[in-house]
Amino acid sequence: MCADAAMYEAKKSGKKRWVEYQFGMEKSLKRLSDLAQKLSLAEKNNELSLHYQPIIDITTDQITSFEALLRWYNPDLGNTSPQELIDVAEKTGLIHDIENWVLNRALKDLLTFKQIIGQHITMAVNISGLHMSEPNLGNYVFSLLKRYNLQPADLTIELTESVLLTNIDAVDSPANQMTKQGIKLSIDDFGTGYSSLAYLHAIPASVVKVDRAFLNQTENNTVTLECIQTLVSSLNMKSLIEGIETKSQASLLHSLGFNLQQGYFHGRPKPLDYYLSESFTQ
Ligand code: C2E
Ligand code: MG
Ligand code: MG
Repeated sequence: MCADAAMYEAKKSGKKRWVEYQFGMEKSLKRLSDLAQKLSLAEKNNELSLHYQPIIDITTDQITSFEALLRWYNPDLGNTSPQELIDVAEKTGLIHDIENWVLNRALKDLLTFKQIIGQHITMAVNISGLHMSEPNLGNYVFSLLKRYNLQPADLTIELTESVLLTNIDAVDSPANQMTKQGIKLSIDDFGTGYSSLAYLHAIPASVVKVDRAFLNQTENNTVTLECIQTLVSSLNMKSLIEGIETKSQASLLHSLGFNLQQGYFHGRPKPLDYYLSESFTQ
């Protein structure tokens, strides 16, 4: 078990490496295999669900879109954080099936949102960089749009980066196939990790979602946020800022030109049922 754990750590850092066993490694390997085993049955056992968080156009104070956020409740494990669950799904290859489930459910629920809020509402779904390089992704997405009688512009794909994407700008990449037909692409968590400046040119995106890290000490980050805003609009893209928690952040960001906003201040992620209940008022 200890040798397996060290081998696994070595593999994580690339090929032809060796890593000395350290205390605790086998614990994280045990957790990984436990989660992987249970996650492979999660869809079948109805343990997956989605929460929807509104995206607001602050110029009209109206919801324009919802972001679908994955939740997993297992009777033995309780709730697992989306980050950990996505990490396990990427390592085990379960990510394709899980995100296809997310796409299907989110687009189905979009029909309900259009009925209760308005036909203009669109849906944003997070797709892992690994899944984004799956050649069949485009066909699957188009088949879902057809199934639910939706338009390509009804869907935004938020590209969430945990691995460095290669070949995303290839002519026949799923990203290009989908954006050519009118599906929108959004760069998630911009300004952190792999979501770098180089990406802005390489990815056929129309929305840049600025990471909430820039909201800490907003005063110190004001110049950076202004520069991002100028850069993004000069590339004919829209900027969206996430993680807005207070009214003063919302106003300041609005004054910096961030008209699309998302965060606990505007609305927390909630299940579809919440939007159908009386507690929800627009
Ligand atoms: P994300 O796509 O950047 O989503 C935003 C995360 O920030 C969500 O966390 C949301 O609940 C949280 N959030 C929203 N507003 C606020 C705020 O005002 N303050 C704070 N502190 N947090 C806020 P969540 O739901 O835990 O999801 C975490 C991440 O997991 C997501 O980050 C996304 O990268 C990933 N994720 C969730 N569902 C999926 C999925 O279906 N596929 C993939 N690939 N990733 C997913
Ligand atoms: Mg996202
Ligand atoms: Mg984000």
